[in-house]
Amino acid sequence: MDMIIGIDLGTTNSEVAVIRDGRPVVLEEDGDPILPSVVGLDPQGRLLVGKAARNQSMLAPERTVRSIKRKMGEEVTVTLGDKMFTPQEISAIILRTLKQRAETALGHPVKKAVITVPAFFTEGQREATRAAGELAGLEVVRIINEPTAAVLTYDPHPAEMERLLVYDLGGGTFDVSIAQVEQGVVEILASHGDTHLGGDDFDQRLLDFVCDRFQTKHGIDLRESAVARSRLLRAVEDAKKALSFEAVTTIAEEFIAEKNGVPLNMNLEVNRYEYEELIEPLLAKTLLCLDKAMSDAKLQADEIHKVLLVGGATRTPMVHQLLSERLGRPVHAEIEPDLAVAMGAAVQGGLIAGVDVGPVLVDITPHTLGIEALGELDGYMSRHCFSAIIERNTPLPASRTEIYTTAVDGQEGALIRVFQGEDEDTRYNTLVGEFTIEGLADLPAGNQILVRLDLDLSGILKVTASERATGLARHVTIDNATERFRQRQRTDAIDRLEEVFGTAENPIEIGNGESSSTPADALDDQSAERLSPTLRQAIESATTLILKAEKIVAGANPEDAADLLAMLVDLRTAIDNRSEKAIRTISDEVTDLVFYLEDQ
Ligand code: ADP
Ligand code: MG
Repeated sequence: MDMIIGIDLGTTNSEVAVIRDGRPVVLEEDGDPILPSVVGLDPQGRLLVGKAARNQSMLAPERTVRSIKRKMGEEVTVTLGDKMFTPQEISAIILRTLKQRAETALGHPVKKAVITVPAFFTEGQREATRAAGELAGLEVVRIINEPTAAVLTYDPHPAEMERLLVYDLGGGTFDVSIAQVEQGVVEILASHGDTHLGGDDFDQRLLDFVCDRFQTKHGIDLRESAVARSRLLRAVEDAKKALSFEAVTTIAEEFIAEKNGVPLNMNLEVNRYEYEELIEPLLAKTLLCLDKAMSDAKLQADEIHKVLLVGGATRTPMVHQLLSERLGRPVHAEIEPDLAVAMGAAVQGGLIAGVDVGPVLVDITPHTLGIEALGELDGYMSRHCFSAIIERNTPLPASRTEIYTTAVDGQEGALIRVFQGEDEDTRYNTLVGEFTIEGLADLPAGNQILVRLDLDLSGILKVTASERATGLARHVTIDNATERFRQRQRTDAIDRLEEVFGTAENPIEIGNGESSSTPADALDDQSAERLSPTLRQAIESATTLILKAEKIVAGANPEDAADLLAMLVDLRTAIDNRSEKAIRTISDEVTDLVFYLEDQ
């Protein structure tokens, strides 16, 4: 029987667990179960993973990649030495280190894994995670949500039905989920979260606080120096952790800056009260998510039987305090907050492998999925209407089909744009993928197109569009970032990883291989696209123009409306392609028509 390992691929820390004697066990290396999710290069260009990489990140931020999970699913690269890596590749390095840890501990090769992701990860982010696993030489048998995993470590056979609230506050992501456990079955009733909220943000607030104080005193902004910033980030994280156990702590860093040739030291006392003031707004956000999850599950606080605290940042006393107040009862950490998710992933792996370890799992989709359609939005006809197909909180796996009709006589094709989100306007939702169904039969407007969404247990989406009249189904896999990555770059990436990846203990030298792509942004940068000022301006005016044109479409006669809509489709494509010339040309045409129609 194949052993399936469970992996918590965290923003900050990762762990690997297996089932031993029917129980999940987190595997340690040098007595430590936690592998910091940090990848770096030492001065000789050798690969570092985990603690060693984290330790040097202070001195060599430019040779270190942290929090790569926040970039998963984005089409960006990060630099490590003289090489470029995608987020999947960096994650693959972490996963491979964990795979090796498991192989060393178990004494045999490991091929399969269950990997956890935040409940709020999009399809693209899940696909990217799966791709990372494959690059690491793992067959990813299932991707499960982190809070779901945490529940799996909990007693699956309570005497009576129990509802649990899982509050997971890690380094970079926050999730809150409500689960119901009964007779060995775990059902997730609702899930909410924020993919950009966690202990990292607490560090950032404390860093700003400390730097502001220093600037007031010495007139120097320490944030401007990458090395000072990195040193301080480490210092404030230590201070933050200390404040979980003590009322006051000191942040002391020698020679953090220099003024007129004189070295300056940082020596600042911070008390828990000051710190709590800084993070309160962030914790308030988590409570809003909690309220949403509760109302989605249609539950009151007194209908929750247990609260599971997951994630290192839940060690913050204020988390316990705010949650206790909100839920009207004391809240305790019942399971090891750092390890619960990996243990639950191992339980899930055991279940799939047929080991008798616990409950059966019913998971839900935490967001609505649907497509963009022509329809009424705020009283106007718009092509940005979000038509829901699979509603939020639907149990997985889920398959739903909706019927759409063509808008024009003899329409030859239809653009299927798939979104996830809760807004009725697709522009406020997330584009998951898009494709065109072409070669439709020559029929009057009203030709029926069936759009089917299949969401599997890992939350990965397949979309099929078919024309009812011809009975001809056209199965299309979503062309999302990861799909493109897989087809074009997968082999490349494996080669590159083979080249750089030794073992954690025995890293191999990184050569001066080719580096084909353009230089990446500094690691801390947002992945914002760099557009030329004229292109940016063209896009901005075109976007305003589109909004204006859409209002006019509603009042126009059908022929003009169709013309205008067609132009807007072209304009949108031009924007997507970042083609400044096309944007300007089509914008001019649209402007003319808009002027003409306004005059009517
Ligand atoms: P992730 O799931 O994002 O990988 P973890 O669950 O390992 O993260 O949590 C990491 C976060 O927990 C970090 O921001 C870390 O600083 C924070 N953390 C760890 N220990 C403590 C503590 N004692 N007090 C407050 N925060 C802590
Ligand atoms: Mg976590």
